[in-house]
Amino acid sequence: MIPNDFIQTLLSRVDIVDVVDRYVPLKKAGANYQACCPFHSEKTPSFTVSPTKQFYHCFGCGAHGTAIGFLMEHGGKSFPDAVEELARDAGLQVPRIERPGESDRREQAMDLTAITLEAAKFYRGQLKDSPRAIAYLKERGLTGAIAAKFGIGYAPDAWQPLASVFSSYEEPALETAGLVIAGDADKRYDRFRDRIMFPIHDSRGQVIGFGGRVLGDGEPKYLNSPETPLFSKGRELYGLFLARNAIRDAGAVVVVEGYMDVVALAQHGIDYAVATLGTSTTPTHVQKLFRQSDRVIFCFDGDAAGRKAAWRALENALPVLADGKNAGFMFLPDGEDPDDFVRRRGKVAFEELANQATPASEFLLTELCAQHPPTSVEGAAALVAAARPHIAALTAPVLTALMQRRLADLAGLPENELRRLLGHRAEPDRGHRAEPDRGHRAEHDRGHRTEPARARSHDDASGSQGSRDEPSRRPLRPAQFGQRRAPSLVRELIQALLLQPELARSGTLPRPEGGTPEDAALSALVAYCAGSEHTLTTAGVMQYFAESPHESVLASALAAAEDAGITAEHAAVQLADGVARYWQQAQREGFPGVPGESVPTAEEAERLRQLEMVRRAVSAVSIRQPKTTRDH
Ligand SMILES: [Zn+2]
Repeated sequence: MIPNDFIQTLLSRVDIVDVVDRYVPLKKAGANYQACCPFHSEKTPSFTVSPTKQFYHCFGCGAHGTAIGFLMEHGGKSFPDAVEELARDAGLQVPRIERPGESDRREQAMDLTAITLEAAKFYRGQLKDSPRAIAYLKERGLTGAIAAKFGIGYAPDAWQPLASVFSSYEEPALETAGLVIAGDADKRYDRFRDRIMFPIHDSRGQVIGFGGRVLGDGEPKYLNSPETPLFSKGRELYGLFLARNAIRDAGAVVVVEGYMDVVALAQHGIDYAVATLGTSTTPTHVQKLFRQSDRVIFCFDGDAAGRKAAWRALENALPVLADGKNAGFMFLPDGEDPDDFVRRRGKVAFEELANQATPASEFLLTELCAQHPPTSVEGAAALVAAARPHIAALTAPVLTALMQRRLADLAGLPENELRRLLGHRAEPDRGHRAEPDRGHRAEHDRGHRTEPARARSHDDASGSQGSRDEPSRRPLRPAQFGQRRAPSLVRELIQALLLQPELARSGTLPRPEGGTPEDAALSALVAYCAGSEHTLTTAGVMQYFAESPHESVLASALAAAEDAGITAEHAAVQLADGVARYWQQAQREGFPGVPGESVPTAEEAERLRQLEMVRRAVSAVSIRQPKTTRDH
């Protein structure tokens, strides 16, 4: 058996978005990811994957689960196999010895990794026999030890060097692995020739591809493996596997643009750097990085191209920037790349510059102000208009609030005025947000005679798509909750607790004995959460109850929370409010077991929530006084 503790740890280390995306390409939709459901046939996507809840749900067929559940349901894996696969991705050892065989797909992937591994060994061996390649690396200041650590090799200057490695050069897998190119008239040749070879590892340390730098003046200067079943440049980061421990020790990860930069930095003691692979930073990259560290420093050249690349990285970082996570941007002096910089000025100078990295929030506002100086009314208006989509992209509540305050200050507007312009409300305003939706739905209902309460959760190809997408993506105010769907109080408590399972420890929660499935589910949920000793997450709790009698009640409550756009922040308030109402109701009905002082009031819960948000915001370095922007 695999201990539950390990399952909980595992689920907090893997990203379900990564896992699902490997099988079902996902598209970003608001805070979530969507695709057409792999479990039933449909034309418009109702399969939703939530990165915050680490849970997937199909609003069409009801399929749902965690990353483990997905591998089981979609990949047809057994529970132990699914756990094993995820553990390997996360670099964890499953505390268990025996393990049955794996699926065909995995074996095929193993075939390709066996090929890339053989190629890596070959290139490494060739380096020893190439004085020219060795001279090049020495000239760049690299020692043999660093070259060995990164497994650097050399692809000889010939058409078919790999023919000496593999028994059949005609083997199609060599092409699939991106090592051999089939040219005209079936003429096959090696992709990498006369290049310094940098093997690219996945999170398990397996070689999945290569980067090759030309030795002379040839073109292209840098050549990477193509997209293969193993390698996708949009999700892999060069050096991440080797840097993992150093990243943890340093409490930060530096992101540079080239593999030579990563190696040069490591040569000078900065061994917590990684590189994107000939592509700009993607949201997947950013998510991967934030799983390794709360502090990610993007390092760019100080020239116009560098600032442009930094801006793209910023745009991709904003949506995944959680409170407590900190993205910084550092710019090297014009004309220097990290390799030049660290060779000329050394580790200390580099780290000093890294420590002064501009927080994402500041970089965003500084750049926007440079483009739209708020020195006139028109300028301020242009600034707000330009900032609007970026602020809308933010999902972190504290960061959003702080950004709004800064922007209001810069634009010389009262904050609530700015919020109005940005389309946010300073005060909860009942009905405002629900109205357009309700209007849509009334129309829709008239036309279709669907059951109103369920209409929104179904994937229907009619014109109602907009009514499902737009308003439901937006977080609802707690005050609005319940008006839409009027779920039972118990169901409301289940939802809140699933979103914030840690809160089960902070008060006397009801364990109803009414005998309904929802009562039973809530009781079981409270008992498990209050009694567990490890950190609780939504996915961890759902996995614990997978295949239990309570699973369907819990999953549908969670899906309803998703559909209504209830965030974890709202859940805290909703829980305190719901608990208070529950006990009031119980008291009115003469229920004897009403607890006394220990029930947190709604105000108390709100205060705790605020404290927690402040705590998280303080650890994010992005809080600066407004005047610093003007100093730039
Ligand atoms: Zn489905």
